[in-house]
Amino acid sequence: MAVLVTGGAGYIGSHTCVELLNVGHEVVVVDNFFNSKLESLKRVSDITGKTFKTYNVDLLNQEGLERVFSENTIESVIHFAGLKAVGESVSFPLWYYHNNLTGTFVLCELMKKYGVKKLVFSSSATVYGSTDQVPISEDAPIAAVNPYGKTKQIIEEILRDLYISDEGWSITLLRYFNPIGAHESGLIGEDPNGIPNNLMPYISQVAVGKLQSLNIFGSDYSTKDGTGVRDYIHVVDLAKGHLKALEKVQSLKGVNAYNLGTGKGYSVLEMVKAFEAASGKKVSYAFTDRRLGDAAICFADVSKAKNELGWVAAKGINEMCQDTWRWQKNNPDGYVKNHDNLIEHDFPVRTSAADFLVSN
Ligand code: NAD
Ligand code: UDP
Repeated sequence: MAVLVTGGAGYIGSHTCVELLNVGHEVVVVDNFFNSKLESLKRVSDITGKTFKTYNVDLLNQEGLERVFSENTIESVIHFAGLKAVGESVSFPLWYYHNNLTGTFVLCELMKKYGVKKLVFSSSATVYGSTDQVPISEDAPIAAVNPYGKTKQIIEEILRDLYISDEGWSITLLRYFNPIGAHESGLIGEDPNGIPNNLMPYISQVAVGKLQSLNIFGSDYSTKDGTGVRDYIHVVDLAKGHLKALEKVQSLKGVNAYNLGTGKGYSVLEMVKAFEAASGKKVSYAFTDRRLGDAAICFADVSKAKNELGWVAAKGINEMCQDTWRWQKNNPDGYVKNHDNLIEHDFPVRTSAADFLVSN
């Protein structure tokens, strides 16, 4: 019985695959490698000493995805696959709605067809919109303010309707706060395309000398030092949260939403200082205007995940920065420079992480 991991080659997916394999789960990955490299999965194999099947399939390709269900005994699904850049979603809303919503429709149809009704879905704190009411609990109003966040909000609604139509479903909606950090091995981490939008990859690229200086968006917020405050969570803690969510969907029917964060807020300046201390590198910065749509403060109420999932984040800000730095320093150009991406992503190919042979 396998766990199907959609988007398993991506940042959070690859770290979750490590944790799943470490506790003995059989894993099947589906990814179209649009925003990831096969190399990340090869390294998941290296870290765990385990092999697993990987399909280069787009979720929009129903036929390709059906092959995954027919060739494997899938018991549950962790659904990471999706586009995730807020700015891009504002410029290309149709693409975002099509990819994230249609991908989820195709997946759920096939889950239904194959009698697989246990699902852990990657939602996001962006569903809460720009609220400054902190800490944010799961029953705070849902009011996403950009197309990306709306895809998460709409998918949450669709999954609730799915459960209403058939109470056999068991669905966990995980609302991530700000995932950062990397696996302690330094082998896998976040590998953004182009210039990073998010704070941590930006800081680490300044520290490694790829970017000159960080622009800090706003210095006049009503926060401890005037800069924006967020709830940063180590990606390995986040990955472990998925294992707890998976246990939850085994044991309980229904739809449940959980915040995954630390419950603590750090400002941009605090993150810069923590990163300088962890890396021993200077991070130059300059203050610029506020970024449109940014909340001043955002951090989670994490009591529901603690009480109902038995999960709490264990790693602090220093470990987050040290692990980010180890990954960045060892892989200044991400996965690409170390090994070429081995496959084309225009056509469905099946690969095995055992040997990474590619065949049509
Ligand atoms: P990522 O881009 O690294 O991983 C997503 C993976 O999905 C990529 O490997 C991509 O190639 C794949 N993918 C996208 N569309 C696909 C499709 N149609 N078919 C098959 N594969 C497809 O992103 P991540 O940071 O690992 O995020 C994983 C999930 O968590 C996403 O759904 C994202 O929206 C959500 N999330 C991420 C963050 C964050 O800050 N990283 C925060 C909140 C929520
Ligand atoms: N931020 C910044 N400069 C950057 C990127 C981000 O000052 O180049 C700030 C941003 O305004 C916010 C915090 O860092 O206060 C976290 O931003 P990120 O985009 O990583 O996460 P999000 O805003 O989506 O929570």
